[in-house]
Amino acid sequence: MTKATLDKLTELLGATNVLHEKEDLLTFSYDATPEIQHLPDVVVFPTTSEQVIDLVKFAREEGLPIVPRGSGTGLSGGSIAVNGGMVLCLTRLNKILEIDEENLTGTVQAGVITLDFFNAASAKGLFYPPDPGSQKISTLGGNIAEDAGGLRGLKYGVTRDYVMALSGVLGDGMPFTTGGKSVKDVAGYALKDLLVGSEGTLGIITEATFKLVPPPQAKRTLLAYFKDIRTAGEAVASIIAAKIIPSTLEIMDNATIKCVEDYANIGLPCEMAALLLIEVDGHPAVGAEEADGVKAVLHKVGAAEVHEAADADHAAQLAAARRTALSALARVSPTTLLEDATVPRSRLADTFDEIERLGEKFNLKVGTFGHAGDGNLHPTVLCDERNRDEMERAHAFYHELYEKVLAWGGTVSGEHGIGLAKRDYLEKQIGVGGVNIMRRIKHSFDPGGLLNPGKIFNDATEGSRD
Ligand SMILES: Cc1cc2nc3c(=O)[nH]c(=O)nc-3n(C[C@H](O)[C@H](O)[C@H](O)COP(=O)(O)OP(=O)(O)OC[C@H]3O[C@@H](n4cnc5c(N)ncnc54)[C@H](O)[C@@H]3O)c2cc1C
Repeated sequence: MTKATLDKLTELLGATNVLHEKEDLLTFSYDATPEIQHLPDVVVFPTTSEQVIDLVKFAREEGLPIVPRGSGTGLSGGSIAVNGGMVLCLTRLNKILEIDEENLTGTVQAGVITLDFFNAASAKGLFYPPDPGSQKISTLGGNIAEDAGGLRGLKYGVTRDYVMALSGVLGDGMPFTTGGKSVKDVAGYALKDLLVGSEGTLGIITEATFKLVPPPQAKRTLLAYFKDIRTAGEAVASIIAAKIIPSTLEIMDNATIKCVEDYANIGLPCEMAALLLIEVDGHPAVGAEEADGVKAVLHKVGAAEVHEAADADHAAQLAAARRTALSALARVSPTTLLEDATVPRSRLADTFDEIERLGEKFNLKVGTFGHAGDGNLHPTVLCDERNRDEMERAHAFYHELYEKVLAWGGTVSGEHGIGLAKRDYLEKQIGVGGVNIMRRIKHSFDPGGLLNPGKIFNDATEGSRD
């Protein structure tokens, strides 16, 4: 990076909002994805939306790649500057601008932390349901860019279902606003929906308006233990087939139970093959009826034990324990290679069998947890990046697993995005034609190709180039 470029960035943002020393850049050279690291040339922290516009215009003049970044909790390498350039970190654009109690909406800057927004809505008696396991750290901009899911996704949906309006800057420097507070809006193309889940490749989101809903009046939390994981998978499909939609339907396998118990000490049974954490919520009478219905299904499919949380504190403790799953697994080995395989729920039990078979075939230690109600599993290989043979086996494990997942009509990413980690799989799932359409969309939003280059599309694949 030339001195002139740095001087200009400093002039635009002030010295405290520009990092360029190597030790400072290191923190921004990785996210939560293993095996991917690259130093950016500079990291900038805009504090106003206008500065973001200026930064994009300047980057275009300089031909500098721009990599948007929130908190860097991404699990597909999306915020890594693989081609160098400028990491544009939105964490200082962090104001909650409005909670509108009349329209049931909340408007924020993109760098607001997910849980802070949830708490601000709660303080006004409203509810923002999307709750990724990373909610204490992740930004809402990052959630929108990845269309993040969460533990309440089964009943309440994912981030996309709550985004009503977005503002920001496209890759060509053009400011945009799309959507609004009207609950119905079909004027023109659904640009907002294109930007949700676009992984920072189409535009930089600076502000968002979210739908809020009334909170559920009551919640019941159940825990079911299983002696074999296949039965747990069948239980998930059976609960849904019984036409009960819990707000939360999460799974942990034996390896995850052991790690979480070791970490959280809350009395989970380490001898069990799997557990399901189930929450039903709504009107107290509906909650009671659904809890009874879930219990009946669990007993019918052969759960070894079914328990109910004693009180709200106990329920919160169980949900918190589930949120620690990845961190707890990460304590076991130097590298946790986590995936995001998602299948139709009727295929869950088969997927557990396949994970077990492949773990044995490739002689790997695997812990699996995830949003089972969404068919979204996170099989996590506990390995060591320095052991090349083990890493090759880990990648072969995922390769074979994804072949099956795709053959069963599943997807290579339920919520973590394609980023760098899944580029090789995208074409396998959506075909050359699908990739070509996406490349054309990318080109029209970002004709210079400066916005998060190298993400989503693998230049080695056949799709037409920008
Ligand atoms: C312990 C743990 C648990 C997790 N649990 C879940 C979970 O339950 N569900 C889930 O879906 N994910 C989960 N994740 C993954 C991750 O937290 C989410 O993808 C989250 O949305 C990323 O937010 P972030 O602010 O950290 O974004 P980053 O990691 O900084 O960026 C992610 C992507 O978004 C882009 N981006 C960021 N901000 C903007 C912006 N303002 N405009 C345009 N593009 C932008 C980046 O370029 C990048 O491509 C988890 C991660 C961890 C570490």
